[in-house]
Amino acid sequence: MKPRVGFFDFASCEGCQLTVLNLENELLDLVELMEIVEFREISSAHGEELDIAFVEGSICRPEDVKRLRAIRARSRQLIALGACADTAGINALTSDRPVAELVREVYGDKGEAFLVAGRPRPLEAFVPVDGRVPGCPIDGGEFLTVLQALLIGRTPELPTFAVCAE
Ligand code: SF4
Repeated sequence: MKPRVGFFDFASCEGCQLTVLNLENELLDLVELMEIVEFREISSAHGEELDIAFVEGSICRPEDVKRLRAIRARSRQLIALGACADTAGINALTSDRPVAELVREVYGDKGEAFLVAGRPRPLEAFVPVDGRVPGCPIDGGEFLTVLQALLIGRTPELPTFAVCAE
């Protein structure tokens, strides 16, 4: 049986999923090795048990936590897709200003509906994460490296880069 793969998103610009979709030729080559059972960007299908869940975006609301835990409960492996999911990324760059103040600045008096949102948090703040594809957006080649390793049952290894040089 082919590994069942799903893609999910929370608070994000969806740029990481777009990077995945832009790999259409490479993904077609891998279709023989996996079954994509859930991917909102391309299909309304919903699956049940998953072998691999790629999750994009940060967690901001109580309902996000509930949904993330449900995804975790039905996924053998859960991979953080991109910086929003891995570190809360750009969503966390809201400084130390109160959320209510930020919401008012962006949405004015109509912002009350957004006040249920809390500080953006990475996936790992709520559920165990088995791996990550870093970047904002992710690198398509690195995503394929991770996906291919997972499909053959290996632990994905990405190169580490020095950010500073002497
Ligand atoms: Fe968008 Fe960057 Fe977040 Fe990916 S990591 S969803 S590109 S903001």
